[in-house]
This record gives sequence, C-alpha cells and structure tokens, in this order.
Amino acid sequence: MPLYIAEVPSQIKKEASTEAAQLLEIAWSPGQIPVDPVAIARSAGIRVVEAKLDEDTLGALVKAPREDPVIVINESDQDNRKRFTCAHELGHWMRRSVDDEYTSIDLRSDLSRTGNDPEEIFANEFAASLLMPETEFRAQHDLGRNPKLLAIEFKVSPEAAAFRLKNLGLA
Ligand SMILES: [Zn+2]
Repeated sequence: MPLYIAEVPSQIKKEASTEAAQLLEIAWSPGQIPVDPVAIARSAGIRVVEAKLDEDTLGALVKAPREDPVIVINESDQDNRKRFTCAHELGHWMRRSVDDEYTSIDLRSDLSRTGNDPEEIFANEFAASLLMPETEFRAQHDLGRNPKLLAIEFKVSPEAAAFRLKNLGLA
C-alpha cells in the first residue's frame, strides 16, 4: 500500500489495528492467548530466525530475489522483546509489495527517534494489536488486571501493556 503525505498517525494506527485483526482472524485461533507471532509469520510464508546480532539491533526484515522473506530476531533479547520484534517486523512486511526486494533493520537506539516515521507507527501499532487483541485485552482489563498482570498474560512488556491500555482509552 502506498504511503501518502496526508496519512496522519490516527489513520495509520487504524489501518494497522484492522490489518492485525484480519491476520488474527485467518491465521490464529480466536481467543487463544498468548498469541504466537512466530507461528503466524510462518503461516504467512515468512522464515523466522534468531541470530547473533550486535547489541543495538532488535531485528530485521529481509527479502532477497526469488527467496522467501526472512524475519531476523536478536537471539540475545528477552523472550517478550523477541515476540514484539517479530510482530513488528510482520507489520513492516504487511506494508511491502510481494515482489519487492528489501532489507530493513530496526535499531534499539532508533526507537524514540523513529516515533514520527509512518512505517514505524504502523509496525508498532500492528505489533500491539496482534499481541494484545482488542476483545481479549479489554476483557482481561475488565476483570481488573493491572498492566503488569496483563503483560504476563499476553506475554508482552509492562510498558507495551500500559501503552495499549492508553491507546484503547482504558487508562
Ligand atoms: Zn521498524
């Protein structure tokens, strides 16, 4: 999908959450928590590998000519970080044309700087929507779970859970 200058963050986020919900619908069992982004990526024909990467690299999305796309994840990262990186790269993949060739790398040191980049906004919202599906997340919140408990349940960081609560207008 092409990017237009007029695309504002709220539109990008809406697209990202819609596409994540659609992907869950076709590639994941309804209501099953935690979501496994690696299984979903593999069902989409993407190779997912962990590799020794330098400390600042979270992960990458690579598509070489005539090869399947590959999501590379930093093997040194903590499990929930790896899950978010995989879901984030899956978000980047959703925005690419099938016949593109590309290598994109996500750096830890870029996390704050890329906050206004539409592609990063999309990938982050996509990842949050994929790992914390709205219906299940709201239901768990309604049970009175705080961000730390939600984080354990959905296998995300407490920061990601708190951010999701805020984005859904629940905090
Ligand atoms: Zn990214």
